[in-house]
Amino acid sequence: MPELPEVDALVEFLRPRLIGEFVTRVDIAELSLLKTVDPNIDALAGLDITEVYRRGRVLIIGFDGLVLVCRFARMGWLTWHDTAPSGPTKMGKGPLGMRVTLALGAAFDLIEPGSKKNAAVSLVRDPSEVPALASLCHDALSITVDELAAALAESPSRIKTVLEDQRIIAGLGNAYTDEILHTAKLSPFATAKTVDPQNLHDAIHEVLNSARSTLVGLPPGKIKTAKKRGFSVHGRTGETCPVCGETIAEVSFADKSLQYCPGCQTGGKKLSDRRMDRLLK
Ligand SMILES: [Zn+2]
Repeated sequence: MPELPEVDALVEFLRPRLIGEFVTRVDIAELSLLKTVDPNIDALAGLDITEVYRRGRVLIIGFDGLVLVCRFARMGWLTWHDTAPSGPTKMGKGPLGMRVTLALGAAFDLIEPGSKKNAAVSLVRDPSEVPALASLCHDALSITVDELAAALAESPSRIKTVLEDQRIIAGLGNAYTDEILHTAKLSPFATAKTVDPQNLHDAIHEVLNSARSTLVGLPPGKIKTAKKRGFSVHGRTGETCPVCGETIAEVSFADKSLQYCPGCQTGGKKLSDRRMDRLLK
């Protein structure tokens, strides 16, 4: 899932290409992508693009009077065309969800490969009309140590769960929370209220700023690959920890997995794999 550093890199790429431009047409290829009906998506045609920004993991494109809110879900992303592809867009086939064609001849697509279609686009007059945005609290890069301390103290949950909860800290997902917990030398299963807020705050900034400095400046097509190259533990089960040399381990759940280093994060202890536990019962 695109997280804060990737969406920031996307925003930096899009800003000089979109602001001041206007839309000539919008084609919807996947009907389930569009979550709103009023205003009609065709209302974008002819409108100037005034701003491009990020809230949490969400991309927001502002027009004269309207706002396009793009939530990518797990597999979704944006592809850019310097020259808009010719020919009609095919409905309901392949990854294409929506194509936006611009006056100067370029276009961008919102895509979601795979059979699950969970990406969501909303066209609204104000971002607060989208419930997922209205519920966002602190951004992961602007939350203060005191705000983080308060959020941790209130939570009965595990730290990994708290970091991924967009209503508490907006912008993180499975990948960067693995990296942050590795940097902070914290077990993903640690209870949130036992965590030192300053240490966690430092790790959030270290990981996100490092990722942003790598990703900002890249075109959308290169951001995902560069993101994966930068990971120390996420997606690296069985590889060697670059910090301590221990073998990176994994905990699997029904639909995802997390990675951690037993040497750095759990005092050498292997965490219980819940899926395996269920199979063994
Ligand atoms: Zn390690």
